[in-house]
Amino acid sequence: MGVQQEAQGTVIMSCRDTIHLICWYLEGKLSASVEREIEKHLQDCPDCHLVLDAANTTLDRYFGPARAEEVTADTKAA
Ligand SMILES: [Zn+2]
Repeated sequence: MGVQQEAQGTVIMSCRDTIHLICWYLEGKLSASVEREIEKHLQDCPDCHLVLDAANTTLDRYFGPARAEEVTADTKAA
């Protein structure tokens, strides 16, 4: 894993933003740059990390551990 240097000013994710986006993050719906911002925040923020863990566990229970990592662009009929 290489360290990436940000040339420009980056958007600072707040805890609120991060928690709000965690579900999408886990479902892989965010753009790579947003994912990076969330990961960066999670590294520095134990609180949000707990939320991520909890959300992860919930999703695991929901979809099961056998859920494929690769999600094709299928739309879920709600
Ligand atoms: Zn946070």
